[in-house]
Amino acid sequence: MRTSTLLVASTNKDKLREIKDYLSNLRTIRFRIIDLDYFPGLPDVIEDRQSFRGNALKKARERADGTGLRTLAEDSGLVVDCLGGRPGIYSARYAGENATDEENIRKLIEEVKDFPREERTAHFVCVMAMVDPLTGEEIVVEGSCEGIIELEPRGKNGFGYDPIFYVPRYKKTMAELSLRKKNKISHRADALRKLRDAVNERYK
Ligand code: IMP
Repeated sequence: MRTSTLLVASTNKDKLREIKDYLSNLRTIRFRIIDLDYFPGLPDVIEDRQSFRGNALKKARERADGTGLRTLAEDSGLVVDCLGGRPGIYSARYAGENATDEENIRKLIEEVKDFPREERTAHFVCVMAMVDPLTGEEIVVEGSCEGIIELEPRGKNGFGYDPIFYVPRYKKTMAELSLRKKNKISHRADALRKLRDAVNERYK
């Protein structure tokens, strides 16, 4: 088994925990995972691409070039069908540049409240990009998770839009699920599974 250092370029502690757990199960390559705490003072990456894929790749490439390390970055968000795919790549700042989760949720409920429940279908998307700055190699995978937007927030777990994202399989909102259950069905878990398979395939 080979060991390789991997920078997980996310500042979100929940995302980091999930990613570290998944990567520890790789069969053929064991990553020593470090995060951005090792590199204080790196300039921010401006997320100005028009797709999850574009933003994930930009974050991974810039962090890989800035540190010289193989880097994993992700971009994620919520796609609501009756809103033509909004908030999409703007999920984090839907209600404004420094909007809180509560403000984003309130704005979304306002926009979907006149649609019947069966039309409030949505999915979370997570694109993960892994870039090796030495070889230029890139792996990009996309995960998703289907649900329905509720008009009343429920649950205290998770983050972001979890309290209004109803998961049919569990008959609960994402915020009512334990971390373990969310990790089984989430868009991030789906992307990490695909990443694990792609890495195992590439380095076998
Ligand atoms: P990012 O950090 O720029 O990728 O922001 C993604 C945004 O999408 C977050 O701020 C949340 O609003 C939303 N989001 C992404 N993943 C999740 C999730 O697992 N649950 C709830 N909201 C999420």
